[in-house]
Amino acid sequence: MTGSKPLVAIVGRPNVGKSTLFNRLAGRRAAVVSDVPGTTRDRVSLETVLGHRQVILVDTGGLEGGPDMPLAAQVTAQVEVAIQEADVIIFLTDALEGVTPADEDIAQRLRRAGKPILLVANKADNDQRAQGAAEFYRLGLGDPLAVSAYHARGVDELEAALLAIIPEGAPESNGAQDRLALAIIGRVNVGKSSLLNAILGHDRAIVSETPGTTRDAIDTPFAYKGQEVLLIDTAGIRRPGKIARGIEKYAVLRALQAIDRSDVVLLVLDATELPTAQDAHLAGRVANAFKGMVLVVNKWDLAPTLGMDQPRAVQALRQQLKFMAYAPVRFASALRGTGIEEVLDAALMVHQERRKSVSREQLASAVMDALAENPPPSRAGRSLRVTRTVQEGVSPPTFTLHVNDPTLVHFSYYRYLENRLRESLGFRWNRLKLVFQGRKVA
Ligand code: GDP
Ligand code: GDP
Repeated sequence: MTGSKPLVAIVGRPNVGKSTLFNRLAGRRAAVVSDVPGTTRDRVSLETVLGHRQVILVDTGGLEGGPDMPLAAQVTAQVEVAIQEADVIIFLTDALEGVTPADEDIAQRLRRAGKPILLVANKADNDQRAQGAAEFYRLGLGDPLAVSAYHARGVDELEAALLAIIPEGAPESNGAQDRLALAIIGRVNVGKSSLLNAILGHDRAIVSETPGTTRDAIDTPFAYKGQEVLLIDTAGIRRPGKIARGIEKYAVLRALQAIDRSDVVLLVLDATELPTAQDAHLAGRVANAFKGMVLVVNKWDLAPTLGMDQPRAVQALRQQLKFMAYAPVRFASALRGTGIEEVLDAALMVHQERRKSVSREQLASAVMDALAENPPPSRAGRSLRVTRTVQEGVSPPTFTLHVNDPTLVHFSYYRYLENRLRESLGFRWNRLKLVFQGRKVA
């Protein structure tokens, strides 16, 4: 029934936050969550993209009987459904309340299920509660992952952990085989070649051919979690001598060329110098080329000595790289080989989303909603009218809007439409390319 898409079920006793997490994973930014138990739910299952995989997400809480049904029976029913039908089960518990008898009962059933299970302690709204979540270890389902579905804490980690346990078996929907051209760019000395080596040296990167070592740009094909990747290397341009300025210029040209050839760009930033005008310039180039982008904060092993933490680093990045809010941020140490999997997972996730097609109906209603919510400005009594919208292609997701007069679309309105459509069509990690096509003048 599920086709080739894995089914991910969220189970847990009432009120632990299943519905909140469901909405969070579904990428609905403004999920409406009420404080009355059982009222936050309007859907039980939906298709969504987690990382680079399309999955069907099921909130088994939606299968709970009414509040007059005994708790044990409610829980048993949903857990049985999950055990029978799900490929992966998220077992959600409540870090505020701690381990309850109902949790123990569910754990016992799940341990016998023989399915991949992710134990998650929700409502870990702060560090103290996240640490307290360790007590769920005694449920015998491994280390609990502490999250706050409500405050979106730990949700990225949860996605990554899920991706790691979703069975590889079933082929992805359309053409996951499509090769991902991945470029590593960044300023001199941020650690591009170190990152390249860490990626190619990673256990999960299967490099089949030995790259040549004499050319100054080396493209290396490898496979990662079933995805063919072509790593476009710009590291060949490293400091052959002391002609620093000439090299720097050459490096920028090389970077531009690499951006052009890539699907997704790893923009490497240096944790000790975050971010610089040149980083912003490179990020702007990537965005203008409608390429996917992962912001890689490298040298993260130095964070303790710098007194830095991830939230503050992200804040600094978001502030300086204003239009790059769509790019996921990942932290790595190429030197120590940490965070490499997270970087690659993010690249796959962006790539997969870039290849997504939406149906005509979905597109038409998204465009209509966007226009209705914020009508386009008019000029000299004329206002923008959209007669038809077509998705022309993927990678980048490209849409042609047939309009009465393209000159009525200004930059700010383009931004609005792009962001609104990204939200309603579920393009969380990518820009959309919108093309406005006017009527032929007779
Ligand atoms: P469900 O019955 O398991 O689906 O739980 P809901 O998603 O309806 O959430 C139950 C209650 O927990 C609601 O009042 C939510 O606002 C609250 N809640 C959900 N996630 C969190 C969280 O991460 N932190 C806190 N403090 N409350 C949460
Ligand atoms: P590139 O010019 O961007 O290719 O940078 P390199 O890979 O040549 O690295 C520049 C310098 O940064 C070298 O001295 C590396 O050892 C150092 N470096 C690279 N990655 C890391 C890291 O993750 N942590 C630390 N502490 N140093 C790093």
